[in-house]
Amino acid sequence: MSQEDRVNSPIGIFGGTFDPVHLGHMRPVLEVYETLGLGELRLIPAHVPPHRSTPQFTPELRLELLRRAAADVPGFVVDTRELERSGKSYMVDTLASLREEFPTRPLCLILGMDSFLSLPSWHRWEQLADYAHLVVMDRPGQAFTPEPKFGVWVQARRTATPEALHQEPAGRVYFQAVTQLSISATRIRALMAEGRSVRFLVPDPVWVALHERGLG
Ligand code: ATP
Repeated sequence: MSQEDRVNSPIGIFGGTFDPVHLGHMRPVLEVYETLGLGELRLIPAHVPPHRSTPQFTPELRLELLRRAAADVPGFVVDTRELERSGKSYMVDTLASLREEFPTRPLCLILGMDSFLSLPSWHRWEQLADYAHLVVMDRPGQAFTPEPKFGVWVQARRTATPEALHQEPAGRVYFQAVTQLSISATRIRALMAEGRSVRFLVPDPVWVALHERGLG
């Protein structure tokens, strides 16, 4: 892809608690980035996630681990706007601020299937599609079984044509098959609590950073 194509191609937005970041985040999202020909991929750690309890790791450590994970991956950048904002990290606010920065460029919000299925409980969730396309990655054990009303909403926006994500700035839903990795941050935290290794479940630089701190 030429430099000119890259700067006009969709921006991928991948938000999460990243408590901590693991290979189940990195590999699938790299596949989305490459397969869809995205111009860049922004990893956005949540400050205070609205849907769950307080993260176990501090925001500083979650950010450092994410930076280590993304450091040598071309096209990947860590975006700290949610950590810099006070209060809950609503994705709709994040997308609105990105849209201000990029008025016409396609934006693709990338979600694992579990997050996507929970969308109807998100703050002003229907507006997410006003700002961005939604790209859904399948995840082990998570079939697409939406509530009927949500299923209708998805069907009205669903496309099987990846070009649509380049041609329009927002509004489509696209399902992307990715390598299935049955890894979760919950499991990683449980292993650490038992004093067991998390090596090969997280990127090597992340494991080194955890290991240096006597974790992982
Ligand atoms: P936890 O176990 O603490 O709930 P998590 O492993 O689900 O965390 P998050 O940071 O909450 O990680 O997830 C960020 C995003 O990454 C979400 O959209 C989630 O669906 C997606 N994701 C996480 N793990 C995977 C995986 N193994 N495969 C595909 N998507 C994933």
